[in-house]
Amino acid sequence: MATTPLITINKLTKDYVSRGGLLGRQRNAVRVIEDLDLTIYEGETLGIVGESGCGKSTLANTLLRLISATSGEINYNGANILDLDKAALRDLRQHFQMVFQNPFTSLNPRMRVGDIIAEPLRTHLSLSSREIMEELSRLLSECGLKDEHLGRYPHELSGGQAQRVAIARALALRPKFLILDEPTSALDVSVQAQIINLLVRLQKRNGLTYLFISHDIGVVQHIADRIAVMYLGEIVEMGTSEAVFANPQHPYTQALLSATPQPDTNAARERIVLSGNVPSVADPPSGCRFHTRCPHIIAQCKTDAPTKVRSESGWATCHLLTGV
Ligand code: SF4
Repeated sequence: MATTPLITINKLTKDYVSRGGLLGRQRNAVRVIEDLDLTIYEGETLGIVGESGCGKSTLANTLLRLISATSGEINYNGANILDLDKAALRDLRQHFQMVFQNPFTSLNPRMRVGDIIAEPLRTHLSLSSREIMEELSRLLSECGLKDEHLGRYPHELSGGQAQRVAIARALALRPKFLILDEPTSALDVSVQAQIINLLVRLQKRNGLTYLFISHDIGVVQHIADRIAVMYLGEIVEMGTSEAVFANPQHPYTQALLSATPQPDTNAARERIVLSGNVPSVADPPSGCRFHTRCPHIIAQCKTDAPTKVRSESGWATCHLLTGV
């Protein structure tokens, strides 16, 4: 198991501020992430799971400084990413790359595949044309693409081929860390498995570290070493993939897992249907944020926020785990 921290996140908070009222003078802050602590270890795949709006994509965008954080620290290579100036940020973007959910919206429709993959090489590195062609050839082969794809436009590719192009482009600068934001959600089920297998191969070959974001805990199961489950801007459970799937501690994780098909029908879980919708992050419930939907709620849940309860393989935040 990976033990060297690559990225350490301390008390990360992100507020979105909207203006309302007469002349827009009223400021309304919506806290999307609150006091989040997280360590990502070298060479691991950390899965982040949760429903839409839980803050997982905001976390990804903050890590890449595509949006600014409100407070906290993201430490990488001896520096706080949130304090980096433009030049240092440009260097960081060589180490950190992102693959988005829909390749057809993330790839420039007016560029051919060869130019899409070569663009970061031309922008960041001083390579000759021959060296760029050699890198293109390496990236195509690593990502299961052929020379014939180089001259095509994104609309001439299948969904799986387009996502392979997006992955090849993300790998062009030989990054250390890849954020994979729902990278298989827009693909057919059969193609999803191919892309997951490709990502696993690339990680082994290149020593990559992944942050794999998904709303589908079943997809994360196939790739993650550890899993963080997010609900309304907070991590409610964290543990090794094996432990979280075998023995989920938090009622929210239990509900997510109960909706996942099990290959072994004997091990099928009883389906837990959560009542109500996800509350608004603009007005999160008091106490435990999950209490408005939790099937195991007790009186204390409405008033007191639960703290981390550690186990051998991770932790979860739930009053029931403290034996209250
Ligand atoms: Fe449910 Fe209470 Fe545990 Fe929250 S603290 S998950 S409401 S039992």
